[in-house]
Amino acid sequence: MRAFVYEALIAPLLLLLWPSVCHSQTPTEDSFSAERKRMVQEQLAAPGRDIKNSRVLDAMATVPRHEFLPEAERKFAYWDEPLPIGYGQTISQPFIVAFMTEQLDPKPADRVLEIGTGSGYQAAVLSRLVAEVYTIEIVEPLAKRAEADLKRLGYNNVRVLAGDGYQGWPDHAPFDGIIVTCAPDHIPHPLVEQLRDGGRMIIPVGPLENQRLYLLQKHGTKVEQQAILPVRFVPMKRAE
Ligand code: SAH
Repeated sequence: MRAFVYEALIAPLLLLLWPSVCHSQTPTEDSFSAERKRMVQEQLAAPGRDIKNSRVLDAMATVPRHEFLPEAERKFAYWDEPLPIGYGQTISQPFIVAFMTEQLDPKPADRVLEIGTGSGYQAAVLSRLVAEVYTIEIVEPLAKRAEADLKRLGYNNVRVLAGDGYQGWPDHAPFDGIIVTCAPDHIPHPLVEQLRDGGRMIIPVGPLENQRLYLLQKHGTKVEQQAILPVRFVPMKRAE
């Protein structure tokens, strides 16, 4: 009798549900795109999150975050969370990427420096909003992978350098904006030097358990700085 109930009732039910089970296990470009739109509405534009810059929201709705993640993490690409990208590093939560980008106030003609390329995702978002992006990553295999991914996906206005971002990239300075996505224990002097007059820098500073995101604005020889958000970024490493 029990076997009959299984065959007659449960087995057809399973067959009926199978396509939707399969679908949720293998996301398609369409399902990723729908999830990305939902991410923008629920995690970025929603009250309480308040990302308002429409160019930033458009870039976040366009750049395929899943393409910058290891295969096993892709299904979580549009969750409200940071995710591992290998080598003990992480890609920031989408809200943090959008928030920092908005704080930079990116303009179409700007040249921006990023410290901490990681997966290349933040650089890709910036590349949709400014003219040129320069990005430095201290873990060489990560720099290589990000460079290849950015090229594969057609983000041709991004240049990647493997090295210690504490020193900045003097050959291409001054920059209109600098975004730092790893946390030093103080604001690196070379980065302040390489910021153009009137430029903005967004940078997390402090130990893991007590970090603040700072916004710096350079006015001549004066630097105005304000702490705007408690955050948690991986520490900035220094070259040996
Ligand atoms: N912006 C990245 C996430 C960055 S995670 C993204 O969108 O995926 C922080 C990155 O900073 C890590 O990859 C880490 O290796 C790198 N990093 C740490 N110290 C650094 C330094 N001194 N110079 C450049 N990169 C550094």
